[in-house]
Amino acid sequence: MKQIFFDAPRTFRGGIHPPDFKKFTEGNPIRMYMDPQEDLVFPMVQHIGAPCKPVVKKGDECLRGQVIGEAQGWVSSPIHSSVSGRVKDVKPMLHPNGSKVMSVIIENDHAYREVDGLHQSHDYRHMSKEEILTVIQEAGVVGMGGAGFPAHVKLSPPAEKVIDSIIVNGAESEPYLSSDFRLLIEEPSKVVEGLKIVLHMFPNAKGYIAIEDNKPTALAVMRNLTVEEERIQVVPLKTKYPQGGEKQLIDAVLGREVPSGGLPADVGCIVHNADTIVAIYRAILEGRPLMRRVITLAGGALSHSVTFKARLGTSIRELIQAAGGLVCPPSKIICGGPMMGTALFSLDVPVTKGTAGLLVFDQKEDHILRENACIRCGKCISACPIHLMPFMLNQFALEMDWDSFEKYHGMDCIECGSCAYICPAKRHLTQTFKAGKRMIQEKRRKAAAEKGGSHA
Ligand code: SF4
Ligand code: SF4
Repeated sequence: MKQIFFDAPRTFRGGIHPPDFKKFTEGNPIRMYMDPQEDLVFPMVQHIGAPCKPVVKKGDECLRGQVIGEAQGWVSSPIHSSVSGRVKDVKPMLHPNGSKVMSVIIENDHAYREVDGLHQSHDYRHMSKEEILTVIQEAGVVGMGGAGFPAHVKLSPPAEKVIDSIIVNGAESEPYLSSDFRLLIEEPSKVVEGLKIVLHMFPNAKGYIAIEDNKPTALAVMRNLTVEEERIQVVPLKTKYPQGGEKQLIDAVLGREVPSGGLPADVGCIVHNADTIVAIYRAILEGRPLMRRVITLAGGALSHSVTFKARLGTSIRELIQAAGGLVCPPSKIICGGPMMGTALFSLDVPVTKGTAGLLVFDQKEDHILRENACIRCGKCISACPIHLMPFMLNQFALEMDWDSFEKYHGMDCIECGSCAYICPAKRHLTQTFKAGKRMIQEKRRKAAAEKGGSHA
């Protein structure tokens, strides 16, 4: 039976409309960069949860697809080598998140010899949910939109949560980034087939592929491909930031509000980014662990903005060289999008599972202005998609009044950057919220440890 399309684009309340700057990247087909020349660096942290434990040592030979970082517990995800070669070292290296992280460094032998058992296709229609989960878990699939939540954990909600909706997040509302868009139009059947795998795991659920209306090509391609799919609906979304935030996406697609401190499963949903869905497809149908990702390189300091498909571990500096190099010294480097990304001080970082983009700005693009006093205009309140009071939270954070910060729901901040973007005084709102949340989490962790210790 033909599906009925949603025609009017849907959205959520709040949010902002920054210029999307996608014209620099969206028209460029994905370029393959599959023979990296420099050493590959594999940080043992590429997901939310316990860091992996390196299981190779200096001097070891390793194969493509071999586990080099073993998951530590359920909320963790293994890391596989994307090349064959020799382990040059195991030591802390700069991570795209700006910190130093224990990493395995591999010298590529360019032979791309593989471990046994790669390419084993699974007929998921005859597999149980648990069997599919095990394959996804062992393949190291994590959320590739940036958060890095292990996919097998997301796909294992508590038994009492009834999942009726699986949403593929194709919004990609961060300015400049186009990696998901290119994937949607270049590998659409993998997105649809990946969604069907997840729908097989949740037989009572319906699938939604949600795409912002500034990507009409992706909407048309997906509609054509799913026209006969009864369980899959393509949903156009208004172009607005942060439309790709999980809570905002669920609100827009289904009109459901994830409760404060809650998860999508609390309202019957699981959300996966488009590249994560493709990674699930590859794990199940191509027998491949997660060893590559699509990444946008953009910004005025680059000679060309390019979307690459690259092996995990590839040096970003090498990718930039492959794209034509720099035209001027960067005034700002951001890993991720300009709204939620992390500022970096070096291009010597590797491509990781969560690196959707790298922005290398010149002076003109560096919009960061000096912070001024708050003028109580209230614009940050209107922009906040969580309906928080950013200017008050900012005050609490600066005064280190963590009780008030929590009381006014500061921990619900999704760090989307909308308030800071809209603020005429250029208050460093998001930065203070990030720091405040980390401070409170640390306090909670210490309190829990002390409580545990007092029972010992
Ligand atoms: S937008 Fe900026 S200046 Fe306006 S109230 Fe919020 S923090 Fe203050
Ligand atoms: S307070 Fe947090 S959630 Fe609200 S707009 Fe600012 S960064 Fe986004």
